[in-house]
Amino acid sequence: MMTQYLEIRRAHPDCLLFYRMGDFYELFFEDAVKASRALDIALTKRGRHEGQDIPMCGVPVATADTYLARLIKCGFRVAVAEQMEDPAEARRRGPKSVVRRDVIRVVTKGTLTEDSLLDARRNNFLAALAEAGGALGMAWLDISTGVFRTQALAFESLAPALARIEPGEILIPERLTARLDPKNLFAERPPAIVPLPDSRFDSENARRRLAAYYKVRALDGFGDFSRAEIAAAGALLDYVELTQKGRLPVLARLLRLAPGAAMEIDPATARNLELFRTLSGERDGSLISVIDKTVTAAGARLLAARLAMPLTDVSAINRRLDAVDFCLTEGDLRVRLRGALSGSPDLERALSRLSLARGGPRDLANIRDGLTLAHELRGVLAAAKLGLPQDLTEAHANLGRHDQLVERLGAGLAPDLPASTRDGGFVAPGFSPALDEQRQLRDESRRLIAGLQSRYQSVTGIASLKIRHNNVLGFYIEVPAGQAAKMPESPFIHRQTMSSAVRYTSTELGDLESRIARAAETALGLELELFAEFTAAVLAHGEAVTKAARALAELDVASALAELAAESRYVRPEIDGGADFRIEGGRHPVVEAALAGANEPPFVGNDCALSADDGAAGPRLWLLTGPNMAGKSTFLRQNALIAVMAQMGSFVPAKSARIGAVDRLFSRVGAADDLARGRSTFMVEMLETAAILNQAGPRALVILDEIGRGTATFDGLSIAWAVVEHLHDINRCRALFATHYHELTALAAKLPALGLYTMRIKEWKGQVVFLHEVAKGSADRSYGIHVAELAGLPAPVIARATQVLDSLERDRKAETLSRLANDLPLFSTLAPAGPAEPPANPALGLLAATDPDALTPKEALDLLYKLKQAAKT
Ligand code: ATP
Repeated sequence: MMTQYLEIRRAHPDCLLFYRMGDFYELFFEDAVKASRALDIALTKRGRHEGQDIPMCGVPVATADTYLARLIKCGFRVAVAEQMEDPAEARRRGPKSVVRRDVIRVVTKGTLTEDSLLDARRNNFLAALAEAGGALGMAWLDISTGVFRTQALAFESLAPALARIEPGEILIPERLTARLDPKNLFAERPPAIVPLPDSRFDSENARRRLAAYYKVRALDGFGDFSRAEIAAAGALLDYVELTQKGRLPVLARLLRLAPGAAMEIDPATARNLELFRTLSGERDGSLISVIDKTVTAAGARLLAARLAMPLTDVSAINRRLDAVDFCLTEGDLRVRLRGALSGSPDLERALSRLSLARGGPRDLANIRDGLTLAHELRGVLAAAKLGLPQDLTEAHANLGRHDQLVERLGAGLAPDLPASTRDGGFVAPGFSPALDEQRQLRDESRRLIAGLQSRYQSVTGIASLKIRHNNVLGFYIEVPAGQAAKMPESPFIHRQTMSSAVRYTSTELGDLESRIARAAETALGLELELFAEFTAAVLAHGEAVTKAARALAELDVASALAELAAESRYVRPEIDGGADFRIEGGRHPVVEAALAGANEPPFVGNDCALSADDGAAGPRLWLLTGPNMAGKSTFLRQNALIAVMAQMGSFVPAKSARIGAVDRLFSRVGAADDLARGRSTFMVEMLETAAILNQAGPRALVILDEIGRGTATFDGLSIAWAVVEHLHDINRCRALFATHYHELTALAAKLPALGLYTMRIKEWKGQVVFLHEVAKGSADRSYGIHVAELAGLPAPVIARATQVLDSLERDRKAETLSRLANDLPLFSTLAPAGPAEPPANPALGLLAATDPDALTPKEALDLLYKLKQAAKT
């Protein structure tokens, strides 16, 4: 056995090996040590190898999924070696024969299919990167749902692309590994990274592999893929085949994400906006937790995918909005759709398991029930008033017709289904006459055994005689030890003597037993044949099932977003190709929900109007000042969230919204240390700011909160100052900039497209009341000490701080700053050619203005002191 074990082990060097022995998966040697530590289970030993004890640990097959999940989470890959024959068969080959075993699957983070190992409401992507002809391509698929896509990208857009899909596992050609820095690429939830030889990313092989999979001669009809995209997609297919030991799941048609089709949201922005998780990593309090009203797992996955990838194409966004609008207006339809959808099975994942030969009877039932529902919803939609919008018309068509398959599965499956096919019992009685006959034979023989027992009781006169069954002896006759003397020699044959009982058999019992065994075996064989037949019928219909599943998810998303809009008073945004951003009475969806939940006063809506042009129709860049705790960050984020929601195809929390489609969204909000990646708070802040200033184009929307707070006051103020100027003159994008540097408001005199806004407050009896209203103008104080007092800083500290503030404000040299605003040659440093001239030294000015011949000795000495002073500045 060890020889066999070591052979399999050698073939899977990078995995832990689950080696099936009866009802357990056993792990040996180093694997056992690692797994026992990771799973916190006992490490034992079994036998010796090269003079050493062999460490061993094991997990029961029945509960293996839980252990697998934990190992995968810890970053392991697991090869599962099953027994490929009945141990009885091995015994027939000879007493020392070892049961044949083989690896049937390598379980990795990106190739999971079990519900227990997956989050039902999120996709689990396996991604691959490839490079061909200097261009980069990425492909990603979810084998549990069949999504399969590619994208051509530049190195700079890799991080946003990865943040969008958050793969569980990523394949990277060896030659790219040195050029990619995982620390930068995967800010959150780093995937398992699998470096593979470059030869696995050959685009020609990939093309052939993909064409063969889709049974087409060429892929041209699927889209205009780059070589790198094809290479990445092919590597994925190859890897799936390898880990699934030759099997491939049903995949939807390979789709290409066209450049610029999705709003780019880099990882820092997604994190700052708390789209999927709060900054502390929880789902509760994130945007998705508030807007997800879907009732099916596939709907939830689709909604999450849309949130991760808002669109830029105005007509595509409007098609989605039309569907939501329809479900909002047609309230009855929405209620019926949601009622029918809730509790619907996960068609996609059931199909994937069946296609990978990992399905059970319940997966067949899920397909049957999901398709039945599809049929029902066809009726619901057909009965709806005329004028279904385009997306719903397509969903209606994609629900499809599946009468034959549903009928066959409906007739074939028993009402109560076991989880696995192992013991049979899942085919309905009356479906197969041959099966019914065998089952009858088996059951009749059982009745005959009961008859035999009562006959033997009367023959022997032992009322306590029983016919029992166990796995070692099979059927046997048992009498209490005290009665054994009464047992006649014939027809009873002695088998076993125990302390309390004696066991026998008889020829008649032996015959009956083999009849039962034969009938049960034949019945199980017939059931398994039928299972294979049902599965084949489902797979032959695979594409239609995938389409129906997708249509159900679309209906769920459209009706869920309509429900959200109805419940939360959201409005339909107007999206166009312009570059305005006009929100009336906008609200923060998460803060609003939290306030409502806590019975606090309602959220105060605020307008935001950014214009494309240079200030004529209103500012393009808002500088927002105001006290601490007044609601600046909330206002900034709510506008970014409204843009994301609108472009994913959702209604938005506002009275009205008109948005010229945003192509890139940037947000730099709050301070976050990234000590794990060796970056200080200020460094993170500057890296994120650098990304914004280097990348934001005219269609971008930028949210900047408190830039420059992490360093010395004057450094921070200077950086903030220059950043505002750069955004205004160079990036020329729509932007909101919140700051406590009130000095920045002086810039309004110079920058025509800069508007000054502030958060209104009321001072009442020495207290500050936050009104949470955004108004034109600027603040001159931050009321930071007031907030510190609210937070409970000791009274002496507050008193002293007030004193210090007073004296600082008295000394403040405001005129220096206004001079800066008026005199500093703005953007002299941005002259296109070469680095900027250093500012003129005032000492030189003094010298130029001096006539040495006209100086008295005293004046000459004074001049020397002045020069010395000027040189210092
Ligand atoms: P700081 O400058 O200290 O970071 P801030 O001005 O950015 O403060 P926020 O963090 O945005 O203030 O808001 C503080 C709190 O005020 C929020 O947690 C929220 O509870 C409440 N708030 C903000 N905006 C509104 C609003 N429009 N309506 C009602 N409550 C609001």
